[in-house]
Amino acid sequence: MPELPEVEITARQLDEKIKGRVIDRVEVLNKKSFQGDAKDLCGRKIARVFRRAKMVVLEFDRWEMVLLVHLKMTGQLVWRLKSWNVNHLKRGVVGGHPTRDWVGELPNKHTRVIFNLVDGSKLFFNDMRIFGWIRVLSGDDWRKMENELPPDVVDESFSLGYLTRVLSKSARSVKLVIMDSAKIGGVGNIYANDALNLAKICPSRIANSLTKKEVGLLHAALKEVMRRGIRYGGATYSDFRDTQGLGGKYQEHFLVYKREGETCLNCGGEIVKTKIGGRGTYYCPECQV
Ligand SMILES: [Zn+2]
Repeated sequence: MPELPEVEITARQLDEKIKGRVIDRVEVLNKKSFQGDAKDLCGRKIARVFRRAKMVVLEFDRWEMVLLVHLKMTGQLVWRLKSWNVNHLKRGVVGGHPTRDWVGELPNKHTRVIFNLVDGSKLFFNDMRIFGWIRVLSGDDWRKMENELPPDVVDESFSLGYLTRVLSKSARSVKLVIMDSAKIGGVGNIYANDALNLAKICPSRIANSLTKKEVGLLHAALKEVMRRGIRYGGATYSDFRDTQGLGGKYQEHFLVYKREGETCLNCGGEIVKTKIGGRGTYYCPECQV
């Protein structure tokens, strides 16, 4: 599943390429993937593309209309010029779950929605398992929804005071609390594991047992791993990516995620794998206490 940095990079790349372009028509190939009336988007100009939580947000015509895209497990956004071909992969935009669909002929059997732009370029929403969704909202409904979202970990409003309050109210494990999207936006499994290693905190520690100093280290570590994730273009963790040169490189900089049996970069200890809340949890028992 793409996490905050991967969604951020996808949104930035789309913003660079499709801002100012106009939607001609929308083909909804799978109704489950699209909520709202696709006709509302016809003739609308894309004012901006950005990220909020783990959603890609397209703003139209000074906030009159908003399109939300949540990629969930296997969603992809692929934008291609009319003249696209496989020899010029980097001229398009690919984001989300890395598979061969990034480079193959589109539409294909995983394509759920196609946005045809007036200039002949196309934005494809592919989703193998159909957990992802697209939603059309009025600007007013979007503002209401956004007001109810918790701060994203990269926001200024995600302050040390905020994290202190969230952790002090919970007797669950610290890893589950930082990944709780109702409390903190944008921390998925990769960056939760790596932030806890950077802060030298054991993932199974009870959230309200952390000392003031540990909360400070965790706050800084969460911000730092997100900065690194965005700097490296996100993590594109698949065999496919290695052969195509597309996607981000944060996977080359994982601190503990998917590194069981390897050496901890803090202390040289051996990284182990366990499970918390059903999710793969990687940590160093030597320095994460
Ligand atoms: Zn260690």
